[in-house]
Amino acid sequence: MTASFALALHGGAGTISPHLMTPEKEQQYRAGLLAALEAGHAVLREGGSALDAVERAVRSLEDNPLFNAGRGAVFTHDGHHEMDAAIMDGRTRAAGAVAGARTVQNPISAARLVMERTDHVLLGYPGADNLAREHGLPTQPVEYFFTQHRYDQLQEALQEGRVRLDHSHAQPTGAPAAAPNEDPKKKMGTVGAVARDQHGNLAAATSTGGMTNKRYSRIGDSPIIGSGTFADNRTCAISCTGHGEFFLRAVVAHDISCLMEYRGLSLEEACRIVVHDKLAPVGGEGGLVAVDAAGTVVLPFNSEGMYRASITSAAPEPYVAIYRD
Ligand code: ASP
Repeated sequence: MTASFALALHGGAGTISPHLMTPEKEQQYRAGLLAALEAGHAVLREGGSALDAVERAVRSLEDNPLFNAGRGAVFTHDGHHEMDAAIMDGRTRAAGAVAGARTVQNPISAARLVMERTDHVLLGYPGADNLAREHGLPTQPVEYFFTQHRYDQLQEALQEGRVRLDHSHAQPTGAPAAAPNEDPKKKMGTVGAVARDQHGNLAAATSTGGMTNKRYSRIGDSPIIGSGTFADNRTCAISCTGHGEFFLRAVVAHDISCLMEYRGLSLEEACRIVVHDKLAPVGGEGGLVAVDAAGTVVLPFNSEGMYRASITSAAPEPYVAIYRD
């Protein structure tokens, strides 16, 4: 019997509900999630590493303009793209991350370069792109990252005069809810993946364009090891999505690992405490994907929905979901 493996991924959490979605759009998102799942699953099925699987799955989502990462990254206040990404190997607890990358096609692969080819953990701004270029990773001109709906989102956010979480309502608090059939792409977010491979190793990866209209070189939780991304073979692998400032302050991913390590909680219980008892009461909207050392997958979120998918060797039918079950 082959050893067990598991893979879970997300494409962002937030105000996502069926009445804001057309069947065609829903189909596109599901197809994007499934394609990424299959990319990572192929690695695990053939005995490959969790690290390769999460990188492969995230690259697929980064290349899909529907998701707020890589090609579909949101616009900054100045009309640029500043992409953040992180990857962590649960076997060694080695980690690599980039913040503010502008030209590299796949920021998650730049993060892996930081982990494997430098003595550092986090590289920011031109340094991230310079490293990627030096190592021959594909880079792209600014046009590649232009998507009309992201540009329209920036114009709306500029008019509102506020920074906007990609997957939240455009309206300020207290304003009427979004109209039916409002562009569902506004509800998209960060992407990420976690995996356990047949050798028992865990890995996590997260990639994002951050928040529309962000300025002053703002960096969210995604590239911060322990907040948006974490992996440790002894406990779990986690990739988060949500309002980064809250996830940063709550050190979400590491907190879950600590609850398992120091209090002996199950992954499910640790996730419930952090996502529902700690984050939700203070307004920390979002969720995460998680896998533990035994290959148990947990996909908790406190928002209306989260684009998510998973597959395990125990139940090889892919699970793809958007709304609450
Ligand atoms: N967590 C990301 C950030 O704050 C955003 C997201 O998950 O959509 O940059």
